[in-house]
Amino acid sequence: MTQLTCPNCGANLSVHPSDAIITCEYCGTSFPPGGEKMKNHYAMKVNYGQGEAFDTLRAYLVKVPGVSNDLASIISMKDMSMTYYPYWVYNVKGTISYVGRDRKATFRDKVKRRYSSISWEWVEEAGREEQTRQIRLYAGPSVRREIQNYPIATRGRRYFNLKEAQKYTANILFSRVSEEQARRQAITQTRGMIMSRIQKETENIENARENFTVTDHAYVHVPIYSIRFTAGGGKVYEAALDASNGRVLYSDIPRTTGFKLKAGFTTIAWFIIAIAGAVIMLLLSPYFYFGLGLAIIAGILGIMTLILSFRQTAAESAR
Ligand SMILES: [Zn+2]
Repeated sequence: MTQLTCPNCGANLSVHPSDAIITCEYCGTSFPPGGEKMKNHYAMKVNYGQGEAFDTLRAYLVKVPGVSNDLASIISMKDMSMTYYPYWVYNVKGTISYVGRDRKATFRDKVKRRYSSISWEWVEEAGREEQTRQIRLYAGPSVRREIQNYPIATRGRRYFNLKEAQKYTANILFSRVSEEQARRQAITQTRGMIMSRIQKETENIENARENFTVTDHAYVHVPIYSIRFTAGGGKVYEAALDASNGRVLYSDIPRTTGFKLKAGFTTIAWFIIAIAGAVIMLLLSPYFYFGLGLAIIAGILGIMTLILSFRQTAAESAR
């Protein structure tokens, strides 16, 4: 831990040595160590109270295949907490003008729909690719993949308000990525996207002129609930839900034993059919393709049943 002084209220704060942006717990000011107050610190608004958030999670889970029919009545919240996770959002406009060479094939001597000779030559290609991208980067200490890769919604962001975070006794995580590092990462990602587009057109790029402009950037905290719940038994399940739009980031699925048994039998049945297909294929040569098709289709269905029925967590797609 290191000691810092808030540039706004003068409070002494102890922070982690890797923190790159600190938010003062007394006045809500955000600043880099030794730097000045940031002007572009935002947070998504909390639109879901604890009760509403839990209702939303329940409504989502009852629709997941394999949960008990009476899940809605046996599900029970164990505890719930809110964390403000830090993200950088960069809008980058990138332009790359390039000169390169691409191989072009020339087909000759067409005889009966076939070419007897193909020759290749290098042709000069030049072009210009422009794209505007919004890059969202998780910036806090390491967390679950679902939060790390969360494509946060940014519409409806407002200036960060310490009072709102305190109202929900939220834990506020600090960015470990500085503004400059975030800017560089955002440009690198935008560049990668544009280059992969150009490389589809031109194999060898000999000369490229690049220009990147950041049109908007913001430091955004997203309030996310961590929820622990039970579903009739003693087992505790975990879920996370965006407190701003109610999206379920992930949730363990409370499956019934009956469902697991049924899914197990279905999987075994598909695999037996697949094996039968393989036997037909090998032993009854007139039915070779029938056996092959049966083995492939039943095998695929078996693997799909296995994956769908035994996955442990579900996540809601974008809304
Ligand atoms: Zn302060």
